[in-house]
Amino acid sequence: MEGAVRQVAIVGGGTAGWLSACMLAARRPDLQVTLVESPDIPAIGVGEGTWPTMRDTLATIGISEAEFLAACDASFKQGSRFDGWITGAAHESYLHPFTPPPPGDMRDLLAAWTAQNGADFAAAMTPQAAACTENLAPRQRAMPDYAGALNYGYHLDAGKFAALLARHATTRLGVTLRSATVLGVDAAANGDIAALRLNDGTTLAADLFLDCSGHAALLIGGHCGAAWIDRSDVSFNDRALALQVPVLPGSAIASQTVGTAHQAGWLWDIALPTRRGIGCVYASRFMDEDAAEAILRDYVAKQLPQTNLAALTPRKLAFATGHRSRFWHGNCLAIGLSAGFIEPLEASAIVLIELSLRALTENFPMSRDAMDIHADRFNALFRYRWERIVEFLKLHYVLSRRAEPYWQAQRESATIPARLAENLALWRDQPPSAWDFPQIDEIFSASSQHYVLYGMGFAVPPVRETAPPAASAQLAEVQGRSRALRAALPTNRAYLDALAAQAA
Ligand SMILES: Cc1cc2nc3c(=O)[nH]c(=O)nc-3n(C[C@H](O)[C@H](O)[C@H](O)COP(=O)(O)OP(=O)(O)OC[C@H]3O[C@@H](n4cnc5c(N)ncnc54)[C@H](O)[C@@H]3O)c2cc1C
Repeated sequence: MEGAVRQVAIVGGGTAGWLSACMLAARRPDLQVTLVESPDIPAIGVGEGTWPTMRDTLATIGISEAEFLAACDASFKQGSRFDGWITGAAHESYLHPFTPPPPGDMRDLLAAWTAQNGADFAAAMTPQAAACTENLAPRQRAMPDYAGALNYGYHLDAGKFAALLARHATTRLGVTLRSATVLGVDAAANGDIAALRLNDGTTLAADLFLDCSGHAALLIGGHCGAAWIDRSDVSFNDRALALQVPVLPGSAIASQTVGTAHQAGWLWDIALPTRRGIGCVYASRFMDEDAAEAILRDYVAKQLPQTNLAALTPRKLAFATGHRSRFWHGNCLAIGLSAGFIEPLEASAIVLIELSLRALTENFPMSRDAMDIHADRFNALFRYRWERIVEFLKLHYVLSRRAEPYWQAQRESATIPARLAENLALWRDQPPSAWDFPQIDEIFSASSQHYVLYGMGFAVPPVRETAPPAASAQLAEVQGRSRALRAALPTNRAYLDALAAQAA
């Protein structure tokens, strides 16, 4: 075939690069896949929370769940809990779990929930809330790989994850690794990338180039000149301080990421079997680094009092908030941080990598002629996805009633995207539904919006005075399943320690 696409070159060996290599090699074994990783430029290595999509990704690329959990010091993630986001009062908390509410009309469920007079929304809608409260695993060990009694993703050590993917790609899937730094690009007459120029004096030609070079955006920003769309007017956070804090053997492993709001941002807390990943995200416009570090240390001292805080130095991260105007240009596709980043809240980055790879491998350009059509469709779909991410993250801030200047600024109407403002107006009359989120594979479906809206106390739209009996029965069934799962599921600690003992 004229202009057939046979060779793919990937620039970057972070999570995006190695996931791309594994996915392409597993789903398109006819391709020759080469990954160039610079030994001198470290990967970012802080992506520690995934979405449930990761189970399908790992199964597709052929890594067993036990191997993954053991190799990545991983644990189960069943959602995110938000502490102190509503007014900042002590003990105020809501959950955004991965398992959706019971099927059916949300208006009926809201009527049944309202009749319960003050029950926690997530706890009424899914047994996952009870599992999270008790640090339970979402599955039993005897279940088949990647199956769960509850929907789940993972918490993981990002450095170990990239290493596992690299081993898997190069030893089992036939991916070639070139350890070199890309210095520049040789352009073809039509503006495409013909080859990469490497610092070992060689070049690497390919038909399709994936830019997984992280914030450097070497190809999509450099050679292709795709414009950067700054979203810091909506999403204020641009800094993070990250710590890895060892935990005592046998300590509880939380089932969800905990995000605790502070005066100008929030703290993440992610429990792995051997450590907690704890970080402080903040907006440099509202807080300086010393204040952020003080908040971080104070949190660790309260959560893990046995910690020798003097021995820990936080890693400092600065990130731009935004995304490219287009992600696929000519024969170059940006995946990962090179495509964009909107702060770590709700862990939307790795899932976007997975969705990009699903779109690419299921609509792979068989020839250069077809590439521009695929590129146009990909760009339209992913512009949609970025817009929805920006809006969903902003929702967490817009609904807050916290009084500090940062939180007040988050609620200024000029900072609220128009479609989010429209949705909020509609949601006074009707709950979010698939009409508001009509794409396949929406990252944040109507269910996600329900958990955040009603978890944060957004007014329930007018519902029937009497709850429909069928909806009340559905909520009663949730309570029954909560009791049954409490009795049937092991704790995360028991599950993961037994797995580690077996692997040793
Ligand atoms: C504070 C923070 C917390 C986060 N938490 C989460 C989370 O919980 N969940 C989530 O989904 N995401 C999270 N993310 C995002 C996540 O870390 C990234 O999306 C993910 O790690 C993918 O990064 P990457 O592979 O695109 O880039 P990187 O990890 O930066 O990798 C870039 C690669 O490109 C290579 N490279 C660069 N320049 C060259 C060159 N000239 N030649 C050759 N190679 C080159 C580097 O060597 C490196 O291997 C977080 C991000 C931040 C900043």
